[in-house]
Amino acid sequence: NVILSIRNLHAKVEDTPILKGVNLEIKAGEIHAIMGRNGSGKSTLSKVLAGHPDYEITSGEIIYQGENIAELEPDQRALKGLFLAFQYPLEIPGVSNLDFLKVAYNSHLKAQGKEEIDAFDFEDLVEEKLDIVKMDPSFLQRSLNEGFSGGEKKRNEILQMALLEPTLSILDETDSGLDIDALKIVANGVKQLATADNATLMITHYQRLLNYVEPDYIHVMGDGQIITSGGKELAHQLEEHGYEWLYEQYAPQE
Ligand code: ADP
Ligand code: MG
Ligand code: MG
Repeated sequence: NVILSIRNLHAKVEDTPILKGVNLEIKAGEIHAIMGRNGSGKSTLSKVLAGHPDYEITSGEIIYQGENIAELEPDQRALKGLFLAFQYPLEIPGVSNLDFLKVAYNSHLKAQGKEEIDAFDFEDLVEEKLDIVKMDPSFLQRSLNEGFSGGEKKRNEILQMALLEPTLSILDETDSGLDIDALKIVANGVKQLATADNATLMITHYQRLLNYVEPDYIHVMGDGQIITSGGKELAHQLEEHGYEWLYEQYAPQE
């Protein structure tokens, strides 16, 4: 049961080619990690998957649940069960986190042809999910992302995931400022939310996240391609030896 199939994907930003032929297949029940040194194109890949307007696909396909989604708007992708944390607005003063989560939740219900959830039922649902991220209910009353620490933003991402139950979650660990507690919470959230029917793609520069979530597959990016893939042992090799030996061994293909 293939959830995502990326085929020979090329993409550019401001006329600079960044992705140069990415191939990746993710099946239901799998957790994948993409690693690679800074500037290798990891975040670009996640932004292209999200449909970020600054990134243009020049060739290749993104097949999600059997459908080429390359032309879909970010919110259309989200309603189909693709979750990318940063497609949500960074800060909205005056909109409480709870209100925001409810709007997001209801738009997903609507896309499935269902009725909106009752406000009280929604609060019960959210409070149940708060446990997964060990967040205090007072967190829900704060303005969306206003003054949230890096760790709180990450917890909130996991909370959104817990509510929306996406089919494919893509988490880009752009924030190197996560403390170890926040990292564990993110990792535990990812583990708890992983089922036989969904999949997760974790993008990280650092090996340390993989101490807490054991991915089924690890891919290493170099200059806009996946240059090698392996199991969790690859993370340990990277921790021990760094990236250079890999980049020397596997030059990107033209
Ligand atoms: P990673 O996440 O692996 O560190 P990125 O995808 O952020 O790598 O960046 C890959 C390359 O693309 C880098 O050389 C970066 O400078 C370039 N790049 C990414 N986004 C932009 C942008 N918006 N404008 C110009 N160059 C960009
Ligand atoms: Mg970077
Ligand atoms: Mg990045």
